[in-house]
Amino acid sequence: MSSNQQPYDELITELKRISLLGSCASVLNWDRETYMPSGGAELRAEQVSLIAGLEHQWATSPQLGELLENLSQTDLGADDSVEAVNVREAKRSYERATKLPQRLVEELSRVSALSQHAWSEAKQANDFSAFEPWLKQMIALKREQAACLQQTDGPLYDALLDSYEPGMTTAQVQSTFSQLREQLVPLVAKIAEASNKPDRTIVCRSFPVDAQREFSKQMAAEIGFDFHRGRIDVSAHPFCSGFGPGDCRLTTRYDDHFFNMAFFGTLHEAGHGMYEQGLLPEHAGTPMGRAVSLGIHESQSRMWENLVGRSRSFWQHAYGNARKMFPESLGNVPLDAFYGAINYVEPSMIRVEADEVTYNLHIMLRFELEQKMIAGELEAEQIPEAWNETFREYFGIVPASDAEGCMQDVHWSAGYIGYFPTYALGNIYASQFFEAAQKQLGNLDELFARGEFQSLKEWLNKNIHQRGQQYPAAQLVEVVTGNSFSADALIKYLKLKFGSLYHLE
Ligand code: ZN
Repeated sequence: MSSNQQPYDELITELKRISLLGSCASVLNWDRETYMPSGGAELRAEQVSLIAGLEHQWATSPQLGELLENLSQTDLGADDSVEAVNVREAKRSYERATKLPQRLVEELSRVSALSQHAWSEAKQANDFSAFEPWLKQMIALKREQAACLQQTDGPLYDALLDSYEPGMTTAQVQSTFSQLREQLVPLVAKIAEASNKPDRTIVCRSFPVDAQREFSKQMAAEIGFDFHRGRIDVSAHPFCSGFGPGDCRLTTRYDDHFFNMAFFGTLHEAGHGMYEQGLLPEHAGTPMGRAVSLGIHESQSRMWENLVGRSRSFWQHAYGNARKMFPESLGNVPLDAFYGAINYVEPSMIRVEADEVTYNLHIMLRFELEQKMIAGELEAEQIPEAWNETFREYFGIVPASDAEGCMQDVHWSAGYIGYFPTYALGNIYASQFFEAAQKQLGNLDELFARGEFQSLKEWLNKNIHQRGQQYPAAQLVEVVTGNSFSADALIKYLKLKFGSLYHLE
């Protein structure tokens, strides 16, 4: 490595500079979603777009390309060494960025802003026809983008999926999802027919916002989110933004008559935040100090939200405190009634409100439609009908309006096509990691019931967070669990948990 040391150091300096610029944009975006007065919108758009332009310029500079080209032809040690990983991933990003013509990058960002605005108004008015021309334009632009990025002779959708989940192919997702769907559809039907159902209304009683804020923050700290290196605020759409080592921002939202929203939303974002806080500071700004993919990121949030936060053992520990915080609503509710209420399963229209069992079906529906849009088999004007038909097939119900049907999510208007699968991939990875952690750490339920979350957090730090982008997602799963990527662990977990909760045979 000695002869490469100087160009390698130059590369690291440059990557850190680009990443630092990106983190400035993250601060501005976080502020826009939390504290910025609405009058600041125009100036903020200019600020963010200035930075995005600069970032693209730096990230596609010929000097950077030359540096990467030279380094990738020299010996950098083993494929998974720090140097080899940083060069490999930096080269991958560089090649992607330079494949996109400047005109397309600008057009996508312009149309995305306008289209999101049109979507928001059309959704409010439940008027799909007002959104349709924007969606049509967005689909065309995404097809063009995919064609620029396409590397294989597989479907164009591969290129979009690869933007969010590097290395994962449409075919892989398809086969895993169809295996999952075969098991989920009958499970949902059995649960619907179950005679012994929990009382969901328990979580819809009165939950004062101040107490919710205190309780959810306290539990986020207990599972391991470090509030000395992060904070939580309120935004319309919850998110997590890791600016860099030492500063990770979470947001949530409150409903004083729905316990689940803020509480599980906070655990979810804290799970994302603990990934960001678990990355090694010495690699900050380089691929070795960055999360693997959206799916792996989502595996961390869903693990803390669902596998931990919605487990009975978690509440064996936390319920006493919850009752003290919400004496009027929970004072006379036994633990198991509460546990049933937070895990109530029901086919519903809205993805973000879905339970653990039906959630993945919402994703599969979107994945199916997106592939057709990108393949040119589904035009914008046909989407509402296709949505409703597929919805009926999966859930046995049909949305009453497009606002709670095909227009419910912001993603398509923003150009995030190929993004949805990463949510379900996150659930799949989470179950595989959790199963491996159980094997290595012993009975996690016993630990959770005692309020001991540190062992799991440290296991995740060591096995996932500190590895940065050393391995692509599917390979990371193999390295960590010894098994290949598969929905088996998720299916087993869901059947066991909900079979017992709903007394299914
Ligand atoms: Zn998430």
